[in-house]
Amino acid sequence: MAKQIVTSGIRPTGQLHLGNFYGAMQNIQRLQDNYHAYFFIVDLHSLTTHPNAEHLRRHVIGVAKDYLAAGLDPNVSTLYAQSSIAEDICELHTYLSMVMPLGELLRCPTFKEKAKKHPDNVNYGLVGYPVLMAADVLIHKGTVVPVGEDQVVHLEMARTIVRRFNQLYGNVFPEPQPLLENAVRIPSLSGQGKMSKSDADDTYISMQEATDAIHSKVKKAFSDPERVYKNQPGHPTVKGCNVYHLHSFFTKEDQISSLAEQCRQAAIGCVDCKKHLAGSLTSIVEPFRERRNQITDDDVIEVLQAGRIKAKASSEKVIAEVRDAMGLRM
Ligand code: SF4
Repeated sequence: MAKQIVTSGIRPTGQLHLGNFYGAMQNIQRLQDNYHAYFFIVDLHSLTTHPNAEHLRRHVIGVAKDYLAAGLDPNVSTLYAQSSIAEDICELHTYLSMVMPLGELLRCPTFKEKAKKHPDNVNYGLVGYPVLMAADVLIHKGTVVPVGEDQVVHLEMARTIVRRFNQLYGNVFPEPQPLLENAVRIPSLSGQGKMSKSDADDTYISMQEATDAIHSKVKKAFSDPERVYKNQPGHPTVKGCNVYHLHSFFTKEDQISSLAEQCRQAAIGCVDCKKHLAGSLTSIVEPFRERRNQITDDDVIEVLQAGRIKAKASSEKVIAEVRDAMGLRM
């Protein structure tokens, strides 16, 4: 039986951090083993909020390195930059935009959130963001899309688009199904919300962080606000201490139990507990960083060019079928 088609994109807007790694990147191997997988770097999407030519080129190369270091095998999966098949994706985006009511796009929570965050740049592309996302999926007739909680609405819009398109033009597209990712929210070092690269540099750990930088950032991490002195017992729970919360993701279970016990008995200080956490984070970041450092820009360009050829073979077939269905082929 033919494998289902999975499509998964990532924005090239900065360095990968531990939070992203535990989300999208960690699932790469599972996806490429179980599906016919298209991974892509959504450089067109990033123009809606990050219009910077110099950063964009660097970040596209950087994200491709992240994918490869995280285990993407370009001989098994397809990795490409969205803009490298822009002629097909943008054409499909235009057709899909004709079946998507404007009101629904304006009510989309992520549009409202972005418009609030960038009030000086509420552009047309931002409103049509979910339609472009639908085009990314449908250009390969994707049947499965890994989504986090915040993207469920976008996928629902893609499904609405498919239903409306198929109603008008025949059964061209499958309705893509969500593959709900485990909603892992890695907390920020500051204790304020989840780890995010749009927050201050010392609130997240980049997957390229040097070992001494990991130690110095973790040293300043927010911990148990009620434990002021070392001889006071602490509150080693997910809610009671942000450092404990981070341990719960990255430190081995038996070690966490021992640290928690020592904390409750005031037998360990927060400084030592944080050193332990920094060690746990280093053991994840260091091997990734080393693998990534061995990948050159030339390696990446070669992979992206080969990926473009594979992606194009699929996208041009779909766009030809779409034109036929819409009565656009003369
Ligand atoms: Fe938190 Fe560790 Fe300090 Fe306990 S010892 S309060 S778990 S940082």
